[in-house]
Amino acid sequence: KSTGRLVIVAYRLPFKIIRENDQAQLFQNSGGLVSAVLSLVKNKNGPVFSSNEKIQWIGFSENTREELEGQSLANDEFQAHPVFIPEDVNENYYEGFCNNLIWPLCHYFPSLARFDDDYFEAYKIANKLFFDKIDEIIQPGDVVWVQDYQLMLLPDMIRQKYPDNKIGFFFHIPFPSFELFRLLPVTWRKAIVDGILGADVVGFHTNDYVEYFLKAARLVSGYGNKLHYINMSNRIVKVDSFPISVDFDKFNDAYDDPMVADARNEARQSLNQKIIFSVDRLDYSKGIIHRLRGFQRFLERYPEWHEKVSFVMVVVPSRDTIEQYQQMKSEIDQTVGRINADYGNIYWQPIIYQYRSMPYHELVGMYTASDVALITPVRDGMNLVCKEYVASRKDRKGVLILSEMAGAAAELGEALIINPLDIQDIADAIKNAFEMPEEEQTKRMDAMRERIKDYDVFAWTEDFFTQMTMLEQEHERLR
Ligand code: UDP
Repeated sequence: KSTGRLVIVAYRLPFKIIRENDQAQLFQNSGGLVSAVLSLVKNKNGPVFSSNEKIQWIGFSENTREELEGQSLANDEFQAHPVFIPEDVNENYYEGFCNNLIWPLCHYFPSLARFDDDYFEAYKIANKLFFDKIDEIIQPGDVVWVQDYQLMLLPDMIRQKYPDNKIGFFFHIPFPSFELFRLLPVTWRKAIVDGILGADVVGFHTNDYVEYFLKAARLVSGYGNKLHYINMSNRIVKVDSFPISVDFDKFNDAYDDPMVADARNEARQSLNQKIIFSVDRLDYSKGIIHRLRGFQRFLERYPEWHEKVSFVMVVVPSRDTIEQYQQMKSEIDQTVGRINADYGNIYWQPIIYQYRSMPYHELVGMYTASDVALITPVRDGMNLVCKEYVASRKDRKGVLILSEMAGAAAELGEALIINPLDIQDIADAIKNAFEMPEEEQTKRMDAMRERIKDYDVFAWTEDFFTQMTMLEQEHERLR
């Protein structure tokens, strides 16, 4: 157990700050990272991290310095430390370097990646702004946990000035194979590798991403590794996989929540005999167009299923100020319209499509009403939707069709695993799912549920923090 405080650094703060009449109101996010971090101090098996102080959270604020001046910016759990990034810097940093370069590159869309010197300059400036905030608040013994691809230079910035603080870094998206990573200019790739290696523990979702990172560290900066350890002369970095997960109990218990049960019953009554469900953010990595083509192929090849199936496809708006995302949205709209016009009739609409987010009870209502979850990203760091689907199936039924390109496929081998670009593969998997006997559904579902229950989101954070403490013992041993 640590004597210092827990300091989380992520691009976003854990709450939205809205000002009303001189008072700043805090609205906490319900996102996965927030509950995972909270579980460190409120774990059902006792806290993994004990400290008398609140969790310190450093993140970007959309408010101005003046708007937040004099406010406490704390709730019972978190003390927020807002980082102010000038708009022009943030545009080149967040929209530019992060979302127009690193995101497409790491998701294997190099043709969408834009290389711009201004992006990298802004990336350095923004990482330094986060560092300045750390510099203001850090104390001896504090454990700093840096999150994701927006802050890759930060671990080393902290290490240079605070060599004795424990630092963790977690990368939430796929770390690409070297043939993709090497597309970055030499100085940029080296800055990224060296920046990340300022941490004591570096985490990825899968063993493949770990392997690719270790190879990048070797080829870019000449660091060799022994299994999961990189020896950096005066210290050791551990690079390992920690597959992020979901709150299993929360989704499992939701099955019996009356609002969820109502949503489930309503869906079952108003839709056709068989229900396919998918939900994702609007993003080219999610494979939405290929999924629609796969469903179209299913209707074309297996006409016996006409009028017996509803495909409920929910797309959650995201980044739709960017032109590529707007184009993708129109392509989806057109493809849905065409399939419905070609195959539907006045009594039957094959695809029910919603471009809007869903409240939680409706989401779990659909997870538990559907016969098939069709999750087909062409590339996804982990994919939590498929884990939520499995966790919510307390009835032990339903079939998961899952892309082999999702990080989650490494843990969910009992799903029907498909290649998301192979539309015939998708069509056949839908047919096989519909024909799967209930005993087989339950057998597969039980195996997957057991795994997610064992390694839920609380196990994820606990695992990461245990590795950080064990590494400290390793340091002691080597001293
Ligand atoms: N989700 C949401 N709003 C919705 C529907 C879903 O926030 O209207 C949640 C969903 O429950 C899941 C997350 O969004 O927890 C998506 O995570 P995933 O890892 O699958 O994909 P990402 O969007 O992070 O790429």
